[in-house]
Amino acid sequence: MSEIIPLKWVEKGSFMSPDGVTHVKIWKTFFPLTLIVALGIGLLWSWYIAMFVIIGWGFHGFGIDPDLDLSGFNRSEALWSKLIITIPLIGWSTFYARIFQKWGGHRSIWTHGFIISTFIRLMFFGLPFLWWFRQHWIDDLTREFFGMYIGMSISDNLHIIADMITGEMNFFSRIGGKNIFLKRIMKIWFDYPPTKKNDY
Ligand SMILES: [Zn+2]
Repeated sequence: MSEIIPLKWVEKGSFMSPDGVTHVKIWKTFFPLTLIVALGIGLLWSWYIAMFVIIGWGFHGFGIDPDLDLSGFNRSEALWSKLIITIPLIGWSTFYARIFQKWGGHRSIWTHGFIISTFIRLMFFGLPFLWWFRQHWIDDLTREFFGMYIGMSISDNLHIIADMITGEMNFFSRIGGKNIFLKRIMKIWFDYPPTKKNDY
């Protein structure tokens, strides 16, 4: 694997950019929020859908996140290159990155917008599976996709809010522009901006 992937990506512990590390920290910290939403859905509606809320939330940790719009090797691709079955995802995510690099660039509304970017991502990465699934079964997976959309929205929105606080967005006004309090939370809780900057 090291022939096709630059060695620096493979080196243990160095495959995530600080920004990716920060987002993963935030994603983990807010898991109780997802749990509360899933419990609510389970109690009031359906435990089956609640299960897909948790799965959808989990995608961020697996690399389906707004920063897939980064060209070149990103955190997700570094993650997928470690598992042989996830390697085809690198091709698909490169396609995704190419489209959105042309169409707004990194942190545009299409990859970092509330509601819409989650929907685009879920469809882009979900449709190949849906297509495959429909070849074998008739179910159109509406309930499953709905649950995953809710879970993904939670992790995506946290990611987007974090990018807004640190002022790294291409659209909307920066909510963190003068907000020392939010920036202090980002620094104390999540060490962002990172004390040590990496080169990717
Ligand atoms: Zn981002």
